[in-house]
Amino acid sequence: MAWDFETDPEFQKELDWIEDFVRREVEPLDHVLGSAWDVHDDNRNRLVRPLQQQVKERKLWACHLGPDLGGQGYGQVKLALMNEILGRSRFGPSVFGCQAPDSGNGEILAHYGTAAQKERYLFPLLNNEIVSCFSMTEPQGGADPKVFTTRAEKHGGEWVINGEKWFSSNARFASFFIVMAVTDPDHPDPYRRQSMFIVPAETSGVNIIRNTGIGSERIGSHAYMRYENVRVPEDHMLGGRGDGFVVAQTRLGGGRIHHAMRTMGQVRKAFDMMCERALSRESQGQRLSEMQMTQEKIADSWIEMEQFRLLVLRSAWRIDKYKDYRKVRKDIAAVKVMMSRVLRDVASRALQLHGSLGLSTEMPFGDQVLESFHMALADGPTEVHKITVARQVLRDYQPSNEMFPAYHLINQRQQAVERFGGLIDPVEAEFEIGEAV
Ligand SMILES: Cc1cc2nc3c(=O)[nH]c(=O)nc-3n(C[C@H](O)[C@H](O)[C@H](O)COP(=O)(O)OP(=O)(O)OC[C@H]3O[C@@H](n4cnc5c(N)ncnc54)[C@H](O)[C@@H]3O)c2cc1C
Repeated sequence: MAWDFETDPEFQKELDWIEDFVRREVEPLDHVLGSAWDVHDDNRNRLVRPLQQQVKERKLWACHLGPDLGGQGYGQVKLALMNEILGRSRFGPSVFGCQAPDSGNGEILAHYGTAAQKERYLFPLLNNEIVSCFSMTEPQGGADPKVFTTRAEKHGGEWVINGEKWFSSNARFASFFIVMAVTDPDHPDPYRRQSMFIVPAETSGVNIIRNTGIGSERIGSHAYMRYENVRVPEDHMLGGRGDGFVVAQTRLGGGRIHHAMRTMGQVRKAFDMMCERALSRESQGQRLSEMQMTQEKIADSWIEMEQFRLLVLRSAWRIDKYKDYRKVRKDIAAVKVMMSRVLRDVASRALQLHGSLGLSTEMPFGDQVLESFHMALADGPTEVHKITVARQVLRDYQPSNEMFPAYHLINQRQQAVERFGGLIDPVEAEFEIGEAV
């Protein structure tokens, strides 16, 4: 009987330390610093580096990675429990060395990079001395990667990349890009036409057309990129020729579940504020918490939050168990669908319950609602993941060729009457079994 919903006491001590540290030292950074990824910002480094040092000394740095890569090899369940605390703060993941997209890009380099690439990019990346960019989506489409047109052609010992990419997050801070490009346009299998490349940021022809913002941001950090005759050596292909989709999945599986873990932190934050407000504010001579429609908001939010948390933890547990993302596609797709919905619904209720204050820029709810759409789009839109869930679920079922299915009540009654009819006087059925004419 191996069901267990408890954290072992030793690790709980670490979680308690993390909770206190994040609330006291890390959350305040969100209010005074710019991007968590801007490793060139002296202000950021002055505040963030000493905190990172404390995390390293506590042996909580990049915990999801194995010791060979400088982590503790804690796996995904422990990372989930940590991330739901770190997700409260924009800076949390960077202070603990597990921020997206670097964590996923690191996985790609660890799997497919050469020794020299690991030395040059992976180790400084894992140490947060540099940050990286994943450049896959194109202006004409993201949900369907088969429409990508960015091309990589071989000239001598080099690949020459030409094309445009869209929403390449953190491009302006990145030291290198992981770029997906078409190498074999005529391959009969559309999933074998693209390959993955590592492109150093300083390479000639790597151009940012503009940095797109989200919501009211005028200048954001999601780059519209143009790669113009970008030349990289042959060994800068990650994985084999035509392996682009396989390599992308290496990072997207982990990336999606990590987003979900951090989203849990944001959901909890909105929920905590909602509860405090409900107990504090009065209207019509009554506390909001005493009104049934407020109670419904709190009850629905708690139930959705706990369901989500359990699904995230179970998915993390299955990743640790199988160590093969193909075996947990359904779980990860389900978590991906759920995270945006739960964040949007809980943050919206918290916003509503705070009235005009809730809608104002003086509270985080507007940003959280917008963030829920980030979660509904980045790493693939909700709709596509629902398709994955449904397809995976249906794999476990077989069609029936009968006119009426085996579970048709008439069939089932007939079988039961045949089995037990001699022993009992069966109760009358709601339907009549007529005589054949
Ligand atoms: C904040 C943020 C950060 C991002 N960072 C990166 C990054 O670093 N690197 C990167 O490469 N990309 C990044 N992306 C891009 C992201 O991967 C794409 O937005 C996503 O894949 C969807 O592509 P699209 O935006 O082109 O939408 P489209 O492909 O145009 O889809 C738009 C909508 O059409 C509908 N739709 C599409 N396909 C289907 C379908 N099969 N069934 C039903 N409905 C469908 C859905 O409603 C979908 O939302 C980021 C996106 C966001 C929002």
